[in-house]
Amino acid sequence: MSNPELCKGMKFPNGKVFRAALREYVVRKPVDIKFKLNEKTKVSIHCKYECGWRVYASQIAGELTFQIKTMVPTCTCRRTFKHRQVTSTYVARKYLDDFNKNHYWAISGVKHRVMQDVYVDLSINRVYRTKRKAREFILGDERLQYGKLRDYTEMIRVTNVGSKVILQTEITEPNTQPKFKRMYVRYNAQKVGFLEGCRPPVGLDGYHLKGKFGGHILSATVRDGNDNIFPIALGVVEQENNDSWVWFLQTFADDIGRPDELNLVFISDRQKGLIPAMEMLFPTIEHRFCVKYIYNNFKLNFKGLELKATLWKCATVTTVREFEKRMQDMKELDKEA
Ligand SMILES: [Zn+2]
Repeated sequence: MSNPELCKGMKFPNGKVFRAALREYVVRKPVDIKFKLNEKTKVSIHCKYECGWRVYASQIAGELTFQIKTMVPTCTCRRTFKHRQVTSTYVARKYLDDFNKNHYWAISGVKHRVMQDVYVDLSINRVYRTKRKAREFILGDERLQYGKLRDYTEMIRVTNVGSKVILQTEITEPNTQPKFKRMYVRYNAQKVGFLEGCRPPVGLDGYHLKGKFGGHILSATVRDGNDNIFPIALGVVEQENNDSWVWFLQTFADDIGRPDELNLVFISDRQKGLIPAMEMLFPTIEHRFCVKYIYNNFKLNFKGLELKATLWKCATVTTVREFEKRMQDMKELDKEA
């Protein structure tokens, strides 16, 4: 559908699909068009300048299927950089992913991209309208998705027995709808797989959620027996702080099992609020820091590839004797280190 080639006899599942394919086709050719007939069951389109190019398509009786019955596929008109089918809605939909990734996509960037792809020169006003529409599509979609969370939660419980899903809402103002607060999701296979086939170091991490409503995602991840990354549980919280980490870790322990009984070791960067949360909930559980994080601090004072390599060797050896030997190597390189 991103680059359809139309011909006589071609069928489409319904009128909507036909219209979308037609639009994409005439934008790419390009043929600027006008509709002579635009009804639910039949469409007749001509070249805007009446050079002879035309398409007639209609619904097959008794079906939703649309078929091209007539097509004169050659437009001899001079090419321009305008095209009436390249509307703001069309551009917003076509580049929705890009708009979503880059909320600050510049006017000139959008103009350039459309010119490059379909040789249409959008007016500044049209780009403004496009950006506004893209924002509406993205926000509208996001809002609707939050509205589906309760059904989603219920669906997981029913169809994926053994899973754990917690959806927390809060009422921030009286007489208003409850608002999303936090969510915890762990599928059945994640717990079973973790307990039966994974190693005990559990990586904890937090990350910003991009998008209109913000928040943070918290995750607990391990390595399985093949050294592949294996996610155990996810949380979505209002922000990363002591309170949200306490909630996530407590929920995790209630759900998966006590970390001391499972002999777990936690590993993380210095996530905001995580260290006090760990100390409060699991004071006896070992908590390590990611070497990459340690190295980022280390390199501020101790520079050079050799020290870096030695630090990584210290971190990756598997016996106490080797570790002490590597630490000695490091001391010989730099006493302070
Ligand atoms: Zn023409």
